[in-house]
Amino acid sequence: MTNDHDRPDAIVSVRGLRTHYVDRQWWFQRLRGRQPAAVRAVDGVDLDIRRGEVVCLVGESGSGKTTLGRAILRLAPATHGQIFFEGRDITGLRGAEFRRLRPKMQMIFQDPHGSLSPRLRVSDLLTEPYRIHDVPADQRYSVAELLEMVELSATLAEKYPHELSGGQARRIGIARALSLHPDFLVADEPTAGLDVSAAAKILSLMRSLRASHGLTYLVITHNLRIVDYLADRLAVMYLGRVAEIGPAEQVLDAPAHPYTRALLDSVSEPDPHRRQGRRRLLLPGEIPSPKNPPSGCSFHPRCRFAEAVCREVPPLAEVDSRHLASCHLSSKIRAAGTPV
Ligand code: SF4
Repeated sequence: MTNDHDRPDAIVSVRGLRTHYVDRQWWFQRLRGRQPAAVRAVDGVDLDIRRGEVVCLVGESGSGKTTLGRAILRLAPATHGQIFFEGRDITGLRGAEFRRLRPKMQMIFQDPHGSLSPRLRVSDLLTEPYRIHDVPADQRYSVAELLEMVELSATLAEKYPHELSGGQARRIGIARALSLHPDFLVADEPTAGLDVSAAAKILSLMRSLRASHGLTYLVITHNLRIVDYLADRLAVMYLGRVAEIGPAEQVLDAPAHPYTRALLDSVSEPDPHRRQGRRRLLLPGEIPSPKNPPSGCSFHPRCRFAEAVCREVPPLAEVDSRHLASCHLSSKIRAAGTPV
């Protein structure tokens, strides 16, 4: 089953995607005579993202959301499964064929200062992608056009990264991605480290660029306010799998998975409509190691509703139109708000 069904308008689809790897301590395990355990960072994800859509991916650190975003862009290896872009299987694409595709799918990195070479001026940073991807002159934006797109003054063209504020550096990162005329952007924690005002301006910019450039976004975040502002759909990840996915408003208003409920309850809810009649659900303990996920429902050690049936892995099943959750009790949890 896919979580938005087989949509012909999907720009990106993944099927059964897994990214398993052996971590840096493998040699230590070998020395102790043990077989190194694989880290199951992404452990079987199906996902369709429609053209023009904004899908937000949330979950705790270690849930696999960043690895999933990187794997979709082929910045992290897919050890199993398939990745489709505009209907074409790109999982094994290499060499010139992949280089031709790369400009269409770009990443906005979490640490803008870290991803910008400190030795280059803004003007060089903005034109560097043209050299890397050998973009013909008639398809290049000018530096002034790129700065205008991200609402920055042309006077910044001669600055170095260390002279930029966090918000300005983030905009330069966005402009670099836009320089290649992408269709699909993965934005990793796009407002991390920014104050409230700068963060709000970045989100507003992303929203207007989506409209003006016909962009599709996968936004990786732990900030549920971003979800409220930007997302069409929300996907919640836990230990490398999708725990819940659906239209953002439906998931925020009536979550069907206890993990989503606990995540939502861990932030203060400004909307009294959403707060009403809901008892807070705590999220006890830490997320388990993705090297050794719990059997059955992987959330069961932290779930106060766990029953005998939870020894079986719950399927990602529909609880409402286009709203799916991987929980044996999801209908009950959703219907009751807080099950007894
Ligand atoms: Fe909790 Fe069981 Fe649902 Fe897992 S399947 S989230 S353990 S109620």
